[in-house]
Amino acid sequence: MVILNRLLTWDRLLAFAISIDTCCFFCMDSIERLDHIFFECSFSRKVW
Ligand SMILES: [Zn+2]
Repeated sequence: MVILNRLLTWDRLLAFAISIDTCCFFCMDSIERLDHIFFECSFSRKVW
């Protein structure tokens, strides 16, 4: 799912016109995108 970019991140849900808060659930500091979750998020970086 990650390779195909099919995870339901906030930025993808927003593309379906679903009105939501797009902030990252973990760090509340950036828009939740696939590359943010796996590579940029400060919380994920601590976990990895
Ligand atoms: Zn984050």
